[in-house]
Amino acid sequence: MRLFVAAELPENLQEALAETSARLRGAVKGRYVAPDSFHMTLAFLGEVDAGRIDAIADAVDVACQEFAAFEVGLGPLGSFGKRSSATLWQGLGEQGALPELAASVREGLRTRGFDFDEKSFKAHVTLMRKADLTSGALPMPTTGRGVVDRVTLFHSDLSGPRPVYEPLHTAELSQRES
Ligand code: ATP
Ligand code: MG
Repeated sequence: MRLFVAAELPENLQEALAETSARLRGAVKGRYVAPDSFHMTLAFLGEVDAGRIDAIADAVDVACQEFAAFEVGLGPLGSFGKRSSATLWQGLGEQGALPELAASVREGLRTRGFDFDEKSFKAHVTLMRKADLTSGALPMPTTGRGVVDRVTLFHSDLSGPRPVYEPLHTAELSQRES
C-alpha cells in the first residue's frame, strides 16, 4: 500500500487554504487539490506491506507523545518543479513544533527499519499539481493561525480519477496547558 504520515489541519486553516485555492482558480490552470484533502506531509513512505501498518502506527504514537498541540500560521505561496507544471503550495510562516515533529516521526520510522524519502522537511500544504505558472501574477494567499493537534497515517489510493487519502491511524498531541 502507498502510505504517508501527515499532520492534519484545524478547520479554520483548512477554510483559509480553501479560500486561497478559490482565489487561485481565476488565475492558474492545473489540477486542484480538494480542500478536504489538504494536509502537511511529515514522512512519505511509499509502497509498504500492509503487515507493517502497526509498526508505523507505533512510531507515530511514540513521536506524538513527546509533543503538545502547537500553533502554526499560514505564510506565502511557493512552488516546486518547473514553472509550466509546478506543485503550488502555501507555506507556513510560523511552524511551531512541526519540523521537530517531522524529525521525530522520521527517526521513529527509521529505527523500525523503514526506508523512506529523505528529502529535507519543508512545511507546506499543496494546493495544486501541474500548475501552469508561466502567465500572470499569483493572488495574495489568505492567512490565519490555528492549532495542530493530530497526526495521521494515510493510505493514498491513486487508482481513481482523484487521489483518495484514507486515514488508517491517528495520534492526538496532548492539549496545551493554558
Ligand atoms: P498524485 O501523485 O496523483 O499527484 P498525491 O501526490 O496527492 O497525488 P501521493 O503521491 O500518494 O498523492 O502523495 C501523498 C502525499 O505524500 C502528498 O502530500 C505528497 O506531496 C507526498 N509525497 C509524495 N511523494 C513524495 C516524495 N517522494 N517525497 C516526499 N513527499 C512525497
Ligand atoms: Mg504524488
